[in-house]
Amino acid sequence: MKFTNTGSGLCITIDEILLTKLNEVSLAHYPNEFGGLLIGNYSQDRKEVFITYSVLPKEYRSTKFSFYRGIKGLKTQLHKLYKKDPCQYYIGEWHSHPDNLAIPSGTDLQAFQEIVSHTEVFIENPILLILGVDKISCDYSFYVFYNQIFLKYEKERRS
Ligand SMILES: [Zn+2]
Repeated sequence: MKFTNTGSGLCITIDEILLTKLNEVSLAHYPNEFGGLLIGNYSQDRKEVFITYSVLPKEYRSTKFSFYRGIKGLKTQLHKLYKKDPCQYYIGEWHSHPDNLAIPSGTDLQAFQEIVSHTEVFIENPILLILGVDKISCDYSFYVFYNQIFLKYEKERRS
């Protein structure tokens, strides 16, 4: 599945199986929030990013309206993925919004401002995937943090 936004010139590709898996993980934690790291790699011209894995946190705190993930064990997992061919690395975050819309909150904005200002993280435009889940449906949206705002992505229409 491919998602595009004309403003950024970067398109996002994700396997439907991975998206379905994240939806299932979200539902397993419903009615609390849950989330994890998005892992992937970029095309050589950097115009396309492939989301290939998600790393789930071993320690976290969550309520219906908040989610905090710890960093325990993440470094080891990230290191293993980095050694793959092609290199897989941290490209963003995903989390669920139980009984709510897949729209970034003020907290999400703050979190991403911190991510891009963090010196250890050398990604300029992290991806945010939000899954708005309830018992019967799931709505999701991809965003790329670009020039301090979230650009919303749309599913590519096949012509
Ligand atoms: Zn959120």
